[in-house]
Amino acid sequence: MMEQEDCRRGSGQPGACQEGRQCPGSARSDLMLVLEPDMNSLNVERIRERTLRRLGYRRGKATDSAILNGIGEGLRVAAEAVQPRAAYRVLPVLEAGGDSIETEAGPINSARFARLVRMCAGQKAIVFMLATVGPALEKACDSSESLFQKVVYDALGSECAETIADWLEEECESWAERSGLKISARFSPGYCDWALDGQRTIFHALDTEKAGVRLSAHCAMEPVKSVSSIAVAAESVPYRNPCILCPKKDCRWRRTRQELEAGIPEA
Ligand code: SF4
Repeated sequence: MMEQEDCRRGSGQPGACQEGRQCPGSARSDLMLVLEPDMNSLNVERIRERTLRRLGYRRGKATDSAILNGIGEGLRVAAEAVQPRAAYRVLPVLEAGGDSIETEAGPINSARFARLVRMCAGQKAIVFMLATVGPALEKACDSSESLFQKVVYDALGSECAETIADWLEEECESWAERSGLKISARFSPGYCDWALDGQRTIFHALDTEKAGVRLSAHCAMEPVKSVSSIAVAAESVPYRNPCILCPKKDCRWRRTRQELEAGIPEA
């Protein structure tokens, strides 16, 4: 059943709702939004701290001047090489079953995410998101002769991609707020109970050429430093992600209630 057919609030056209809200079930492929934030709009200090954490400095701080200089040089190169690009598209939930969600781009085969979607109230839609650092940082990494710099570029690339994905998530949250909707935290293929081949549904939803990311036959993304994800948008979203509903108490990726409320991923 297409939930849009049940909409009693407006015409179903984006921006044309009688209540001045964007209909979550009305976005189509031609409405995919491509955004290009510049590095200055991203939190560079946060990228530095997260890179240090990734390199094993648990509090995001290093005292070794050689390490700090290497990260500083890596950030300088990254600021020039990174070409942040982000894209999103919203499609209605066609059906929310026990183990999966149906959308016109394909299924989302995750029982845990499906449970969260079923608990949402009112019109429900899936926000498909893709964020990338672009190809140039990878080239800088490949052409560097220093093994240390390669490690730094690799860590920086991962953190830049996560930071762009965070930025995109905030953009989607703003879209949801303007539309009178709530949105969950992002959820990616390859995590939790959603297998990596879930990438195909995300890439069916988005115009990958415009998004600047390709998907290989084995579901690897190119550029590698890219983040694909989904979120549910609805009039009421009871939890930011499915962890609170999940019985797997010893999961190392579990987010606590405090983290969920604060919206801060575990360091
Ligand atoms: S606790 Fe772990 S398995 Fe359960 S929903 Fe959270 S991430 Fe997924």
